[in-house]
Amino acid sequence: MVKNKAIILDRDGTLIEDKNYTYKIEDFELLPGVIEGLKLLRNYFLFFIVTNQSGIGRGYYTIQDFHNFNNHLLKILKKEKINILKTYFCPHLREDNCECRKPKIKFIEEIINEFNVDINNSWMIGDHPSDIQFGINAGCKTIFLITGHGDKHLDELEALGIKPTIICDNFIGATEEILKSF
Ligand SMILES: [Mg+2]
Ligand SMILES: [Zn+2]
Repeated sequence: MVKNKAIILDRDGTLIEDKNYTYKIEDFELLPGVIEGLKLLRNYFLFFIVTNQSGIGRGYYTIQDFHNFNNHLLKILKKEKINILKTYFCPHLREDNCECRKPKIKFIEEIINEFNVDINNSWMIGDHPSDIQFGINAGCKTIFLITGHGDKHLDELEALGIKPTIICDNFIGATEEILKSF
């Protein structure tokens, strides 16, 4: 059976503006190039979101708030015929030491098994070092975006010695790099 290729997307700072624990619809703001980029990629890849949402664990918002906000995003993408197959979220705090918080790869393992994904030919896109470490841990290619918190984290990335496959300024740049790679 032919395996699927996937693009695993961080959410806040990658698809939408990261306003620090973003959960209010009024704060919803898509980042430039996201719709355009996903449209160019949708014939080749399955799309997933994997997002750390410690704001839930901190009590800043509820799981229901998270779903309401995330469904808003999914609905807007669906209108453009962009389908996110599944959203995986970790509600825990770092100190909870759970199994699902990026860079731990529980959610990628679920994606690989449930959707028959060829992880070595798949991509993780994110704006935080933990997104890149997550992708590396799982064996996929990685793109570090300097859109959301990315510029703040670029030094951190270097200090930690985490090496993304590619560093891009924005989502459309990431799209072009992915399309160039095959
Ligand atoms: Mg992010
Ligand atoms: Zn977790």
